[in-house]
Amino acid sequence: MVQMSPLSELAPAARALLPESTAEIPYKDPSPIVLVPKRRGSIECSKQAGHYFMGGLPALMQAVRFLRQNPTSVVTYVNDGERKKSTQSAHQGHVHPTEWTTPELGVWPLLKIILKSLHLLPATSPEDVAHYSYIHFPLSKMRPSLFVRNIAFKLMRALRSKNGVSEDDRWQCDAVRASLAFHKEVSDEIEAAGQEPTFVSGWRLIWSPDRLGIEKKRALWHELGIHTELLCLDELRTCTLLRDDIPLYGLKVLGDGKFFPNVDQKITSHLSRKYPNTFEERTASVSKVYIDEETNRPFAVEELLPDGSSQTVAVDSFYGSPGHNQVFKSGSKKPLWDEVPVTGVSTLWVASIAKKELVKRFGTDEDLVNCLKQFPGSANLTNLHITIWDAVVDGDTVHIVARATQGANFNAIYADPNDLANMTANINRFFIGSWKLITAGSCTRKTTISNVPEFKDHFIHGLSGIGFSFSAAPISHLSGAIKLSEDPLEYQQRIREEWH
Ligand SMILES: Cc1cc2nc3c(=O)[nH]c(=O)nc-3n(C[C@H](O)[C@H](O)[C@H](O)COP(=O)(O)OP(=O)(O)OC[C@H]3O[C@@H](n4cnc5c(N)ncnc54)[C@H](O)[C@@H]3O)c2cc1C
Repeated sequence: MVQMSPLSELAPAARALLPESTAEIPYKDPSPIVLVPKRRGSIECSKQAGHYFMGGLPALMQAVRFLRQNPTSVVTYVNDGERKKSTQSAHQGHVHPTEWTTPELGVWPLLKIILKSLHLLPATSPEDVAHYSYIHFPLSKMRPSLFVRNIAFKLMRALRSKNGVSEDDRWQCDAVRASLAFHKEVSDEIEAAGQEPTFVSGWRLIWSPDRLGIEKKRALWHELGIHTELLCLDELRTCTLLRDDIPLYGLKVLGDGKFFPNVDQKITSHLSRKYPNTFEERTASVSKVYIDEETNRPFAVEELLPDGSSQTVAVDSFYGSPGHNQVFKSGSKKPLWDEVPVTGVSTLWVASIAKKELVKRFGTDEDLVNCLKQFPGSANLTNLHITIWDAVVDGDTVHIVARATQGANFNAIYADPNDLANMTANINRFFIGSWKLITAGSCTRKTTISNVPEFKDHFIHGLSGIGFSFSAAPISHLSGAIKLSEDPLEYQQRIREEWH
């Protein structure tokens, strides 16, 4: 059992660094949203909300894009105030697609995982850092129909891919590149306005003691058009907290980046300052979206307010990113889209390291804190993502705050505790310093059967493990002009054209 350290055990200097969203909170069922077809004019609205964006970071980023193009239009961003997955994510900006593409989920590794789930092969201990797999298919808890569709998709994908890469993967990489470029633009604008940045771009590190595994990743990234370079020992010492006295192999993934904490708050505060007369942020839970019977466009939204009252507001357009599939057409109990929950463990750590050890690695004691804050995000081949956010020099010690996530527990809303044990084993074995676990919880990403995010009936979903990175991809159909074709192939083709 991995133990958490009470906050009272932390040095006050380290405690002061923790981000606003430190506390892990219990799981709560999402509030459903109903799409109600109505005649425009048949609904009385108490106020005008203009162009309406609700949900998580993907909705907020589309609001930013919209305001840039239409600074005089009224824009409302609404969130119910519940924990966003993005706040628990690894905060890494990465171009690569979701797990279906990774070698760790190739056909043979997948077969081994399933045999282990069926107890036909012995389980690997989480302490075994060389052989542990972070992918879990807990068969006893799984809906058989979903499992069959997952596997069917995986096999079809393997048949259609060239060198392990499908057309969808390439399309996603392009969309994420454009998204990260926009995040950088917005972050630079926030910094130029005298506030803290939200995103830094450069490179991300993939590391492992397994040289062959790193070479396989490099070949895959090359096929995806993602440029990489091998990490040299000097960079390992000055840009990572990895030990330099054991053989480790690192791949610099160029063009990736990392997000800092509290991205949403920083962006909404910036929008409020930049567009004081046209941008409004509100806490409310959306319960109904009224759709014009004739045009299929949203024209009003019912909101439940924190004081328990409700109000109906008129909207010019609607864009939702609720992070769940509890969206229904009026009178139907079947959600508008199916989804596969994939859950990982999400943690916050404080690493304390002797100052003289860092000075030795860096060759100087100048700007230690800034160097650490600029460290690239890293991931290993068992999906351990570590992102350093902040640091402070406290006498002879340096305290460093890091977000770490790991694991893909398919069709489950709770993380597999073995991932936390494996994460801890990896940290203890390969990183310098003394690491204290501050919080740990489950974080569920929602994917579709395929690995392609979809925009369906005015909602974006299926963002999976790339949602933070994908959140600001340019979508030209925000005005609500999009009309969904039910034919998935036609739909995907059209979205592809509109995305650019
Ligand atoms: C462990 C883990 C690590 C990850 N790491 C990364 C990473 O490193 N990089 C990356 O790119 N992605 C990462 N992701 C994925 C990313 O976090 C998600 O894909 C992304 O946050 C999904 O955004 P969302 O808006 O769909 O959902 P969310 O971020 O959950 O936001 C939805 C928000 O809408 C609110 N809401 C829901 N219903 C209503 C309603 N009716 N009215 C008002 N508000 C409502 C919710 O309460 C929530 O606040 C990770 C995910 C996990 C689980």
